[in-house]
Amino acid sequence: MPAKRFLLTALIVLLAATSCDQDDAPLGPDSFDPNAAAAAAATITPDDMYQLIEHLASDQMAGRDTPSPGLEAATQYVAGKFAELGLLPGATSFIQRYPIDVEVLDAETGQTAIVSAGAPNVVAILPGSHPVLRDTYVIFSAHIDHLGVGTADATGDSIYNGADDDASGTAALIEVAEAFASLETAPSRSLIFLAVSGEEKGLLGSRHYADHPTVPIELIVADVNADMISRNSPDSIAVIGQEYSSLGSLIRSVAANHPEVRLVVTGDLWPEERLFFRSDHFNFVRNGIPALWFFAGTHGDYHELSDEVDTIDADKAARVARLIFFTIYSIANTADAPVWTDTDFEL
Ligand SMILES: [Zn+2]
Repeated sequence: MPAKRFLLTALIVLLAATSCDQDDAPLGPDSFDPNAAAAAAATITPDDMYQLIEHLASDQMAGRDTPSPGLEAATQYVAGKFAELGLLPGATSFIQRYPIDVEVLDAETGQTAIVSAGAPNVVAILPGSHPVLRDTYVIFSAHIDHLGVGTADATGDSIYNGADDDASGTAALIEVAEAFASLETAPSRSLIFLAVSGEEKGLLGSRHYADHPTVPIELIVADVNADMISRNSPDSIAVIGQEYSSLGSLIRSVAANHPEVRLVVTGDLWPEERLFFRSDHFNFVRNGIPALWFFAGTHGDYHELSDEVDTIDADKAARVARLIFFTIYSIANTADAPVWTDTDFEL
């Protein structure tokens, strides 16, 4: 998540998600299958999570600053994984680019200049299986960018590898996509796997996606976001946003139905931080789309050079990813779209 608190004073009245006629259509006979879901979730392993986080947080990605060659390499890597899984490109390709201004230092004159550049999001689609509900979408988002390169510490390390923040969420994106791609029958609703950049610069990539969605935004029924899921207590995970929509009772019921993931789902442990408004799901919330953020909490390595792969709990990260899989599976196989239960908040 970004360090700076958003100070947005505009009060935006959210429209309750309107239930559309198509929600009344019956689900396909085979779209919800607990045994198939369990087998798919089992493809998400600690080893796979560790290897993905290790690669995304390796020095060759140079901290995945927005924009940077390291970020481009990371997004190409994720796009390649989505292609291997047989997912469809969410835009004209798997990459959605957006404009960003960057400050460039002229080495000869010592002057800085603002030049416009581009930065990538990665967007992939798994089409749903229901003849009507497949025209609605559940988004799984995670940010792929981090803080880039800074001043070297005493050991000579200058790369902000961002293993927990948010290589862990990006790895979950790939692993959950793989689990869904392994299903013989896709869920009823279509799924969008979205790796956004520019989060650390102020949620830029998710803002661009929400302002330029690759599907009509009114057809997006929920956003599930993963940002920092691999640290702290091995047996609990905070899921932020439960109090605002029907996704709250949904995640609590999913967690109760899956004791094998060995995770106690807590609510927002840090209400004074206004976390519901501080990661990429915010850009869906402000467009009226109910959202949840899976967040394992902050720690001493947060936004430090020491947020490295050897500090992560890959077993926990895999179990969180499995819980996310079951959560999205449930949203995507429920005929009624999630609805807001409390919109009495200021964005
Ligand atoms: Zn983050």
